Amino acid sequence: GRTALEGRTALVTGAASGIGEATARLLAGRGARVVLVARRAERLAELAGKIEADGGSALALTADVTGQASVDAVAERVRAAYGRVDLVVNAAGVMFPNPVTEGRTDEWQRMLDTNVAGALRIIRAFTPDLIAAAGEGGTADLVNISSIAAHTAFPHYAVYGATKAALTYLSESLRTELGPRGVRVTNIEPGLTETELRGHIDNEELSGELDGMFDAIGSLASDDVADLIAYVASRPRHVNLRQLVVLPTRQA
Ligand code: NDP
Repeated sequence: GRTALEGRTALVTGAASGIGEATARLLAGRGARVVLVARRAERLAELAGKIEADGGSALALTADVTGQASVDAVAERVRAAYGRVDLVVNAAGVMFPNPVTEGRTDEWQRMLDTNVAGALRIIRAFTPDLIAAAGEGGTADLVNISSIAAHTAFPHYAVYGATKAALTYLSESLRTELGPRGVRVTNIEPGLTETELRGHIDNEELSGELDGMFDAIGSLASDDVADLIAYVASRPRHVNLRQLVVLPTRQA
């Protein structure tokens, strides 16, 4: 039978692991064609294989959202293979906590360039598709994965939090531009979620501290966040869930 997302074409960044991967699988399972974007080619190929084995349709495109040429190449290949996309999920992100006084400008740059500018590159490349889809009476969604860190200050996460606050602001502001054109914008702010994100922290003390929080509080699964994204995208087209904060129950 028909599912709510049948006929949709979704592009998911950060699809190599965690929230992006779970989202791509779920959207595909509900009938959407999915474009998988991340840097690790093997991961994407493996996921595309699983989706297709389950009867879905997936296109794996290795790309780095910090590179304009890389994002442009994605847009070109998506157009050739699938035509237009009508659901874009910005889930690619990195998190490197450290005291600001350490001055790790390399980490700051990577977070800003991935979490903010990376999302913007994707938005620039695919907003015309979303506007066109909506203009023809279709449903069109932009979903940005921000974080509860956009609102809650946590020591040593200043720059990460700043990138997420920027993304949350961008979502709210873009909604005023795109809403009148029929494109929904949804900003999702998850709390602790079990993914590979914290595996890239190179500060042992802060890494241990975060592990301790996961142990004490528990966490969401990537599937919990994916479920929300599928829910948002399958509302009637006049209904826009603008902002969702989702936390593990025990996270204060
Ligand atoms: P993961 O590390 O598991 O996933 C991040 C994904 O982003 C990976 O697929 C990674 O793949 C991809 N990625 C990273 N850098 C780039 C890049 N330059 N270009 C393309 N893809 C890139 O972590 P999560 O699933 O947790 O992260 C998803 C989003 O959720 C992030 O924006 C994160 O900030 C946010 N978030 C996470 C929370 C959590 O507790 N886990 C809480 C709140 C928000 P690859 O390395 O192959 O490129």
